[in-house]
Amino acid sequence: MRVIVVGAGLAGLVAAGAVAAAGNDVTVFDKGRGPGGRMATRRIGAATVDHGAQFFTVRSDELAARVATWTAAGLVTEWCRGFGPVPDGHPRYVVRGGMNALPKHLAAGLDVRCESLVFAIRRTGHGMSVQLDDASLHECDAVVVTCPVPQSYSLLVSAEVAMPQALLRADYDRTIALLAVLDAPSVVPEPGGVQGAPGFTFIADNLRKGISAVPALTLHADPAWSKEHWDDDRDATHAALREAAVPWLGSAMIVDSQVKRWRYATPRAIWPEPCWRAEDGLPVVLAGDAFAGPRVEGAILSGLAGARSVLTESQ
Ligand SMILES: Cc1cc2nc3c(=O)[nH]c(=O)nc-3n(C[C@H](O)[C@H](O)[C@H](O)COP(=O)(O)OP(=O)(O)OC[C@H]3O[C@@H](n4cnc5c(N)ncnc54)[C@H](O)[C@@H]3O)c2cc1C
Repeated sequence: MRVIVVGAGLAGLVAAGAVAAAGNDVTVFDKGRGPGGRMATRRIGAATVDHGAQFFTVRSDELAARVATWTAAGLVTEWCRGFGPVPDGHPRYVVRGGMNALPKHLAAGLDVRCESLVFAIRRTGHGMSVQLDDASLHECDAVVVTCPVPQSYSLLVSAEVAMPQALLRADYDRTIALLAVLDAPSVVPEPGGVQGAPGFTFIADNLRKGISAVPALTLHADPAWSKEHWDDDRDATHAALREAAVPWLGSAMIVDSQVKRWRYATPRAIWPEPCWRAEDGLPVVLAGDAFAGPRVEGAILSGLAGARSVLTESQ
């Protein structure tokens, strides 16, 4: 089978790996400069800063087995067992060198083509055709689409795929993030992370998390604040976030900072199945964290389910 996967986030890469491992010819297209999607790490001077996912948890045996392999290989390490005065005891894992190193690892050995924006997906006589924004056409027997659902839907309009109303209405919370490099250690409490501080969903100290050589914070504004300020002047948003960061600085000063905006940060509702397959035998599968849970583990499990759906249908 020739299979095209749209999106080189975790769901797409895991799906591509599983379909390729079964002996199929797989190409992954992603519009980004590199693989990873919301598993994103940025270098700012000497600082290394995760600006999407900050850590991950493991609930399923399927992911636990993979994490054991990644840990043994030195790719993944346990950061802590929770946040706040009474940690809940569940391991939080991080990726050495930054969260983006995991998708990079998953992409190795796969045909992943970045800076390749998919423009439309259409039916052909016997399969599907994927058109990129450079107008090139790529035919395949099946396509797995792992973008945030509204983006996946817009690609599929020309294929006239009948999607359920609940998927058509899929909505995502936004996140505006401040990435701040400091000249001295922060006062973010042990273990270097705070969940649910007023105005923020999460604040991470990338130095104490073990990925940055110098003090650097990631502050994720909460969905309400992010939505309210989404269209504000960018400099004003930047200044407001720098001001809101002050309580976490102690005597440190911000020496460099950037704002990153995630339009599709967190799906607001989760589809009851780990992936969605088009009806009428159309070889189109949708996967991603909107299908198996709004987190790293959900994206991985959905990618695996998407791969299984493609492989089962081809038998
Ligand atoms: C701010 C933030 C904090 C988070 N914190 C955590 C956390 O601490 N723990 C946790 O477990 N999870 C966290 N998450 C969630 C986690 O990052 C996601 O659940 C997971 O990474 C989603 O993976 P995915 O493959 O489903 O989607 P994505 O990673 O979004 O991948 C989709 C890919 O599709 C590509 N794409 C879109 N449109 C096109 C197109 N037209 N053509 C080609 N490519 C296209 C995109 O470039 C992207 O790479 C966080 C997310 C955000 C945004």
